[in-house]
Amino acid sequence: MSKIAFFGIPAHGHTNPTLAVVKELVRRGHEVRYYSYDCLKEKIEATGAEYISCDSYDIQMKLMPQDGERIGKDIAFSTEILVKTTLAMDDTIIDEMSQWKSDCIVADSMALWGKLAAYKLSVPFISSTTTFAFNQHSAKIMKQDITQLLKMLFSIPKANKLIKKLRAKGYPVKNILSVVQNDNDTNTIVYTSPEFQPCSDTFSDKYTFVGPSIRTLDHDVIKPQRRTIYISMGTVNNLMKNFYRNCIVALKDSDFDVIMSVGELIDLEGFGDLPQNFTIARSVNQIEVLQQVDAFLTHCGMNSVSEALYYKVPLVLFPQTPEQGGVAYRVNELGAGIYLQEDSPEKIKEAIQEVLKNHSYKQSAEEISNGFHRCGGYRLAADKIENLINKEQ
Ligand code: UDP
Repeated sequence: MSKIAFFGIPAHGHTNPTLAVVKELVRRGHEVRYYSYDCLKEKIEATGAEYISCDSYDIQMKLMPQDGERIGKDIAFSTEILVKTTLAMDDTIIDEMSQWKSDCIVADSMALWGKLAAYKLSVPFISSTTTFAFNQHSAKIMKQDITQLLKMLFSIPKANKLIKKLRAKGYPVKNILSVVQNDNDTNTIVYTSPEFQPCSDTFSDKYTFVGPSIRTLDHDVIKPQRRTIYISMGTVNNLMKNFYRNCIVALKDSDFDVIMSVGELIDLEGFGDLPQNFTIARSVNQIEVLQQVDAFLTHCGMNSVSEALYYKVPLVLFPQTPEQGGVAYRVNELGAGIYLQEDSPEKIKEAIQEVLKNHSYKQSAEEISNGFHRCGGYRLAADKIENLINKEQ
């Protein structure tokens, strides 16, 4: 039996794929601790791991799920979080961990303090990547606009100054990029297939593509007779009232039904009387819904896209951030979806009709799905963690 510590950030999308792995490690008899945030406590405890709250280390930053998006892209912001969180955790967690004597640390690619704790304690380390893995080749699909790039370049000196504070506390950190980047020497679990990961052949054999971790249902799903469309902009940046209104105008009175998930913050009454073919909910059981639908208009969050493709659902792509833009680019490149160029009712209708009419999108979704099913999943991720521990012992 080994002692394994996981570190996460306060974002469901970064935590969900790891839960099956944690559950499997617990099932195999390991003792697992998960350092995370209270919004995820229940889910983590359900795996059988010991949950340890990091919320109190977060007092100065007040990290919200939205901030997850900025970590790794906004270097100044990432460094500030990294330095403040690492220093706030330094005494307690490092003490606690050295007494507990963990055999391995697994940290989300953005929970950089987990990586630093592993460095400081000389414990075997595995990075866990719930988005695509990025190196100089695969990063090309994420279009950064020029102002973002300049902002990043100008913030590097300030970031490196902050990093000095970490070095003073005994963390062997060269510079901020050496911490933020995925690299070919770090053992890394990536929650997608080698076929879906862009440029997967440019990553070293330290990378293991385990496929997406898809939640399961305990009941069968019956597909409705009428064709059905699903629309969701995810759980984070989903306050898009005009977009939802345009979807209603575009798809009312059509010959298919529409299920639309609109998030927690929208005023539902503002939609007025809904057309008969529409069902609107703050949140749906997406895994169940995806097994009932013929197409999905999505913001291209990595989880939503992986879940949809797993269930062979072709996509209409409406990304809102550079990271979602990268996912959309890959789906489009592999032929499993088309872009929604603008969210006018006419364009929405056109895009949905095209995806339903042209069977090639569905066929490509099926091919990607087959690749996902060939991956080793959470068991392979657990094997990798065990193998690393056994190698180091
Ligand atoms: N989700 C859900 N019900 C909803 C909307 C979303 O269960 O009504 C789940 C979805 O299955 C996915 C996650 O929330 O696992 C969204 O993650 P994603 O990476 O797609 O986007 P984010 O919300 O992080 O932008």
